[in-house]
Order: sequence, then C-alpha cells, then structure tokens
Amino acid sequence: MAATLKLTNTLTREKADFVPIDPANVRMYVCGPTVYDFAHIGNARPVIVFDVLFRLLRHFYGESHVTYVRNITDVDDKINTRAFERWTKKRSLNEEIRELTRVTAAQFHTDIAALGVLPPTHEPRATEYVCDGTRPLDMVRVIAGLIEKGHAYAAEGHVLFNVPSMPAYGRLSRRSMDDMIAGARVEVAPYKKDPTDFVLWKPSNPETEPGWDSPWGFGRPGWHIECSAMSGALLGEVFDIHAGGLDLIFPHHENEIAQTCCFTGKEVMANVWLHNGFLQVEGQKMSKSLGNFITINQLLETDTFGGRRWPGEVLRLAMLRTHYRQPIDWTVKGLEEAEATLKRLYEKVSGVMPGAISDEVVAALADDLNTPLAFAELHRIADTTKLAATLKLLGFSCDLAAIGAGAAPVDAALAAKVEPLIAARLAARAAKNFAESDRLRDELAALGIALKDGKGADGQPVTTWELKR
Ligand SMILES: [Zn+2]
Repeated sequence: MAATLKLTNTLTREKADFVPIDPANVRMYVCGPTVYDFAHIGNARPVIVFDVLFRLLRHFYGESHVTYVRNITDVDDKINTRAFERWTKKRSLNEEIRELTRVTAAQFHTDIAALGVLPPTHEPRATEYVCDGTRPLDMVRVIAGLIEKGHAYAAEGHVLFNVPSMPAYGRLSRRSMDDMIAGARVEVAPYKKDPTDFVLWKPSNPETEPGWDSPWGFGRPGWHIECSAMSGALLGEVFDIHAGGLDLIFPHHENEIAQTCCFTGKEVMANVWLHNGFLQVEGQKMSKSLGNFITINQLLETDTFGGRRWPGEVLRLAMLRTHYRQPIDWTVKGLEEAEATLKRLYEKVSGVMPGAISDEVVAALADDLNTPLAFAELHRIADTTKLAATLKLLGFSCDLAAIGAGAAPVDAALAAKVEPLIAARLAARAAKNFAESDRLRDELAALGIALKDGKGADGQPVTTWELKR
C-alpha cells in the first residue's frame, strides 16, 4: 500500500497531494534559531515536527533524494545586544559575538540531538552568506538585484524593500494593508517611502556593531533577507517546502516571499508552506515575566519543570502527541503520560531487530503528519519487529536505557553528598585554584559522578551531574 503524502498549505489554506518539483531532489527549508540564548521548548516544536517530515520524505523518496536546509541566524540585533552586555573588552566585540554564537549554536545542537532530531543536509550560517563571493547567491547580490529591478531603494545608509512595488504582497498572510501596518509595528522613519517598507540592509556602528562593506556603506543585513539568500543559494529559485512556526507567517515569511519572488521573477518561492501551532505551558502563554519560560536544556538537565529531569525522547513523544497545526499545552502531566507510553512501547521492543515499517503508521503520517493517529496505530501493532522499525522511523531509539537513565529519580542521600562537593569545586574554579578543583572532580568521579560544566542563562558557570552508568 503506497500512501499519498498530503500537506496543508498555508498559501492555499487547503490540504492537497504533495507533488515534488523533482522527486530525485525534494527540497525543504525551515527557519532555524537566532543564536543568542538557550532555545526554549517552543523553539523545539518546529525542529521536532519538521524532523518527522524530513524522515517521512526520506522514507518516500529515498535518503539521498531529500535536501533539508535549516539555517542558523548568527547576525541579529538581539545577538549584538547580548554580546555587548557581556563584553569585558578583553577581546574585540566581533570576537565576543563570534564566541556567543558559537557557544549558543553548540548548545542548540546538543539539546536537539537529545530530542532525536537528525542533522539537516545543510545548516548555513547567515554570516557566511552576506557578501561571500564564493556562494551561488548572497544577501548583497539579492539586495543589489532588488534595487536594479525597482523593488528596493537605498536611503541614508539603509536599503529598504518597497512593499507597494509588489502587488501580490500579503498573499501568504492574507492581510489587508491596514492590518500589515499595525502588525509589522512599523518603525516610522523619514527615509521610508511607504510605512510598510522593510529593511534589507542597515548601517552599523563600527565600534559597537558587526558589519560588512557594501555598495551602501558599512552595515549589516536585516533578518528576512538572510533566509532568501540562504534558501536561494542552497535550494534554488523555487523549492518544494518552506516551514516554520505560525508566528513567522507575518512579517518574516511574507517578506521572504517578497524578496525572493521579486528577485527571481517567479510567482512563488516555495510551493508548499507549512506552519506549526503555538505552544503554551500549563495553560498559559510562556513568558519570562510569568516565570514559566522553560528551555530545552532545563528540561533535560535540571529539575525546573515538575521537579525532575526528562529524557529527550519523552519530550519528543510529548511534542508529537498533538497534531502540529494545533496549539499544544506543555504540561508535567503530559510528560508523565508520554513517559509511561514510551516505556510500555520500549519494553515490547527491547532487543528486537527492526523489521518492516507499518503501512498504517505511514498512512497516518502521510495525512498531513497526523502524529496522534500514528501513535494510535502504533499501539495496535502486534508484530514487535514492525513496532521497532516504525518507532525508528519516527525518530525513537527503542533503547530503554535512553529513557531510563535521564529519568532516574536523583537519590536524595547521594545528592546531599554530591551537591556540596560541586559547590566547593565551582568556588575553587572561580578562585582559579585548579589543583583543588581537579581534586574535587576526582573525588566525585570516585563516587561514580560524571560532571558537565556549562553556563546558565545568566552567563554564570553551572555544573550538572549524573551517575555514570
Ligand atoms: Zn526564515
């Protein structure tokens, strides 16, 4: 039974059969993280959901026939602000920015690997596509092309996209001009021809901001142009699927389409646009001010949520139990249920060699990634070799230890012994007494404790630990 893949396209607001432009090279782009801080659990949703789609496309078209691009935004004003705050002037600001983005991107990779997410085919960094002459396309070339074609103009060191120059603008978000003016919270600036015009390039202060030399002076790109350049360079003028969170439809994706289509002269940028729904925590919008803001790393490594750590595969299942287009409520109860479910499934497949993949589960996934139905079908599979293979298709390891170890309740007696030693070691490190800090590490190792040094969200050193298996 060969199921037909159907996807709900935000462009048409309809579910339709997916027909790739070239079945030998199915191309998908997902907007990746802006690397200035730990990724929160809301950021994990598109990463997990579209990882399932990546796996399904590979299943349908073959592993070597799918190209998946998920970028890293490593030039952005949020990054500059954070780097400037932390900057101790021991190195240049550019080096500080590079270090912040390097560490944050590495943390992102560690976090999402624990969620069972495959690396994409390409993971371009925005800074490598600003004006690098070696790329098939870069931001400066797209901007220059847009100016040449009358869709953009330079003014006071800025380059702006002129929205009224594109009659089809607003097609994805289906917004009226009034909505867009309000929605974009447009900055009133004297150099703008129209209030909805948005920034492609802006001037940088060489003392405090990163920048590149360009025909419009020393400056840096706006966020939207990054994705137009990277997708164009790696996937071509028109590709199959562009995806991201619902919050990106406007203005980000609308602006990507405007830039790319006006540059290429094509009617579309991607044929299918997919958007995942919002995530809230215990019935409330997640926000730093409400104190319910949780990062992937906190769930994996600390007892912030529900008083314990959670295995990455449990987080993955908890995310996929809700259909990607629906809003999801992230709750302790939901994680406990996901854990119990996963444990039951893993107990069945422990030590089993994977066999054939379940047609019923594939059919459920093919119906607009209906993961709740896929899990319902999974429970009906009697053949454990089939169950193992199908769990693997969904990105689950089938390794009981993977969900047992991280979830093990921390032994209180052990914690009482270990925590003061860790605190003493952090103090020794802060005092640069490395002999003492090494001695304490050895003492902990003798207790069977593995340490992991990192930085907290506030930039302070944090050490987490686990019992070595
Ligand atoms: Zn994007």
